[in-house]
Amino acid sequence: MSQLSFFDAGTPAVPWVSVLVDCPAVQGLFTYAMPPALSIGAGDILSVPFGSQCLGGIAVGFPAQLPPELTPEKVRPVDDVVVKGFFTPHFWQLLHWVADYYCTDLMTVIRMALPPGLLERSQRRIRLHGDRLPDGWETQLTGLAHPSALHIVQLLQTAKQQDYSYRYLQQQVKQAQRGLRDLLQRGWVESYLEPPKAIQPKAPKVVTLMSDQGQGSPTAKQQEVLAVLRHQSGEQWLSELCRQARCSSSVVELLAKKGYVTISQREKLRLLAQPQINRDQPQVLTPAQRQTLTHLHRLRGFQRVLLHGVTGSGKTEVYLQAIAPVLQAKKSALVLVPEIGLTPQLTDRFRARFGNKISVYHSALSNGERYDTWRQMLIDEARVVIGTRSAVFAPLPNLGLIILDEEHDSSFKQTQPAPTYHARLVAQQRAQLEDCPLILGSATPALETWQMTQASANQQPAHYLHLPERIYARPMPPVKIVDMRRELKTGNRSIFSRDLQSALENLQIGQQQAILFISRRGHSTFVSCRSCGEVLNCPHCDVSLSYHYTHEGANQLLRCHYCNYAQAQPRFCPQCQSPYLKFFGSGTQKVTQALTDEFPHLRWLRFDGDTTQRKGEHRRLLEEFRRGNADILVGTQMLTKGLDLEQVTLVGIVAADSLLNFADYRSSERAFQTLTQVAGRAGRGNDPGQVILQTYSPDHPVLEAVKAHDYQSFIAQELPQRQALNYPPYGYLVLIRLSGANAQLVEDTAQAIAVDCAAQFPTGVDILGPAPASILRVADRFRWHLLLKSPLAQRPKLDLEHLRQQCPASVSLAIDVDPLYID
Ligand code: ADP
Ligand code: ZN
Ligand code: ZN
Repeated sequence: MSQLSFFDAGTPAVPWVSVLVDCPAVQGLFTYAMPPALSIGAGDILSVPFGSQCLGGIAVGFPAQLPPELTPEKVRPVDDVVVKGFFTPHFWQLLHWVADYYCTDLMTVIRMALPPGLLERSQRRIRLHGDRLPDGWETQLTGLAHPSALHIVQLLQTAKQQDYSYRYLQQQVKQAQRGLRDLLQRGWVESYLEPPKAIQPKAPKVVTLMSDQGQGSPTAKQQEVLAVLRHQSGEQWLSELCRQARCSSSVVELLAKKGYVTISQREKLRLLAQPQINRDQPQVLTPAQRQTLTHLHRLRGFQRVLLHGVTGSGKTEVYLQAIAPVLQAKKSALVLVPEIGLTPQLTDRFRARFGNKISVYHSALSNGERYDTWRQMLIDEARVVIGTRSAVFAPLPNLGLIILDEEHDSSFKQTQPAPTYHARLVAQQRAQLEDCPLILGSATPALETWQMTQASANQQPAHYLHLPERIYARPMPPVKIVDMRRELKTGNRSIFSRDLQSALENLQIGQQQAILFISRRGHSTFVSCRSCGEVLNCPHCDVSLSYHYTHEGANQLLRCHYCNYAQAQPRFCPQCQSPYLKFFGSGTQKVTQALTDEFPHLRWLRFDGDTTQRKGEHRRLLEEFRRGNADILVGTQMLTKGLDLEQVTLVGIVAADSLLNFADYRSSERAFQTLTQVAGRAGRGNDPGQVILQTYSPDHPVLEAVKAHDYQSFIAQELPQRQALNYPPYGYLVLIRLSGANAQLVEDTAQAIAVDCAAQFPTGVDILGPAPASILRVADRFRWHLLLKSPLAQRPKLDLEHLRQQCPASVSLAIDVDPLYID
């Protein structure tokens, strides 16, 4: 595809057009002839004949010659232009860049960037602009335009919304296409695409345990239901629960009314009612904020900025005031945030400032909502779009600023499906194309981002702006590290240390609240000894061994992700022979159960992936907590992200270990970021905060930096290690993932590709593996990985087609460029 010139503007001189056809069964480009009556530009959406069908497609280029196997007689003409200039030239270039950098088909990238189903032909509609019809329009058409034009206008006038599907017009009016072309040229009608009608999947109801204390005590029957639910680890399908507890669904519904459980429907998306927000005014900035803002206001064109501000330093207010002049200049701003869990609070603050100029755009929108937001973005000249990573492709025509808040967050990286893009890098590319500033904000910048601020050979260093203090010089909360080995030695078998117990006891109920954080990531676990703290590590690598659960009754093995070393799971600690080995992976439910047992007077709320499935549930739970309807918020990673709750004085980290010992070269960085962020939730109001961090490895070097709130000392120990081993930000990684139902075939394919890569790439490129994925079998498919590592300057260029050719049809291939997780 690279020999084509993609960015030709205007009407090309050649009569051929290359079209990317939207049909999953075929790959690649097809050549069509351009009828003289049509003007086609790159990025236009077309309809083209394909076999006996008519398909949607996108014009991607204008080849000077026909491919050798084609003769002019064989080439079929483009049927019509459906929408012109759908992509701006920069947006179009961005899509090409993503396809190229992330080693993905262009069509896959386009499909991801478009609202789903948009290219389907049935979606094309024609709307009459009645207000644009001049007086005596009939005479202007008669004799001068194709006779069908008159009929089309008359027909559209009879429609309720003055609009019909293209298909209907074709059925009703002979040669509708020819008249339509004329009407489009006059601007009297508009051709647009309608989103496919959202198909509502069947969504069974699920019951989730929410709180141990509701309004009014439960009846005996209701108590029985709660007991059954607890036994099911807090969650069960409604129908199944009723069967097990031998009750009708009305019993469960009453429990939901009282607030003990929620009943939600999985998968179903609903429109979230917009809450009423009072408008606010810009706050008077602190001197540090003002300095930062002045610097930001001076930026012109493409510039990169790292805004490094400790948690609670007032970054959001700086963003808001940085955006205001952009809107005044009639440009748009794009604000990317890690997760939906974070957006209610943040979007409220943006709405309060900018009112209906705000759009929220994320992948959990229904197709219809997504499409509506799309259209609005294309129509309005100045908007603020807040969204998660996919919003980096929001089609804002006139961008003036891009902001990534909490830029270190791993949810900015897409792992599946392709393209495996990182929103930070795409945003940088986009800012460069649009020639606008990019602000990366964080209390714990990613090492890649930190590295941007350092001088480099081929790029200007990013500006470094620092907000080292909290608003009103509020102190950072002290972090107490508690050695859980000693707790066990002194006979405390609770999951709460004595420090945490007494902090919970001393919580001033009604005025102070606590957050209990449980780290949970994937299925990958590690094993440690409860007596001596020993973590079982790989003898060949500096990573912990993972506990692999393949299937019931299989031999339990501990394995290294990096070198594939494996050993049988020991029955005794190899260090001290203690039989008390612990498999880490403590969940929120375990903690809430312990709270109920040990602190029956404290009311808790669960905040994790399970309890926030339903749309709007994040907001509801946080609102409930903010109103003081619970004393403790118990949750997972979601809690770390930007929550600004003034009453929270205590943060308890129940077990830091699964973060510290994750088998990954990034585990230290991730642990530092997560722990610092979650600690930063404490003491944001008037009462000072405190953090209690429980661990079995109190001497882990990362914990020193967390305790001191010291980013510099963390990077001072981490960067040299990365550099020594050529890991990012000093090196470049590509992960090749293979999977298939036949275990041997997948392994053999992985071996063959490794051999091929070794022959193809220079010696600087390391080939690690192939090794099985940490969860070898997922959905009955076996997964193997191959990791390529190289210095930045020697980035290997993968040829997707060549790699695909080496895969048998039953083995699928995925390429993860710059992988964040190698599991
Ligand atoms: P960050 O995003 O850096 O964690 P926030 O922007 O959430 O910090 O600010 C923390 C708190 O301080 C918020 O409640 C915010 O309303 C408040 N705040 C920010 N800037 C100011 C200011 N200039 N004056 C008073 N309060 C402020
Ligand atoms: Zn031991
Ligand atoms: Zn190893």
